[in-house]
Amino acid sequence: MECIFCKIVSKEVNSTIVHETDHIVVIKDINPQAPTHLLIIPRSHCPTLLDCDDRGLLGEMLEVAKEVAKKVGVDRSGFRVVVNTNDEGGQTVYHLHMHLLAGRPLSGRMG
Ligand code: 5GP
Ligand code: ZN
Repeated sequence: MECIFCKIVSKEVNSTIVHETDHIVVIKDINPQAPTHLLIIPRSHCPTLLDCDDRGLLGEMLEVAKEVAKKVGVDRSGFRVVVNTNDEGGQTVYHLHMHLLAGRPLSGRMG
């Protein structure tokens, strides 16, 4: 399996894990675009949001985003969640994931 996020969730590749559930792993982004930049990654491989029909999992990703925002203390100040999809959506890793960004005022763009 060549997928970097599959390797991360299986712990074949190291990352800083901040939260785990049965279905999801949350890690720190290796190249943070904000003081808090986390990646909410399903354990199961699905290339993009367009390929995922699992409403339970998609809902759980948002639930986990809320929980983790509280856990790292950015819930009151505020945060953003983003799912980059396909080339012009800025997706570079083709294993579904959600970004959680916080820690400075975020303008219209993701960065
Ligand atoms: P995308 O551009 O696909 O929405 O987001 C992929 C994200 O994964 C990027 O923000 C990138 O910095 C992050 N990333 C890529 N490879 C690794 C890695 O090996 N470890 C970690 N922690 N993050 C990674
Ligand atoms: Zn994968």
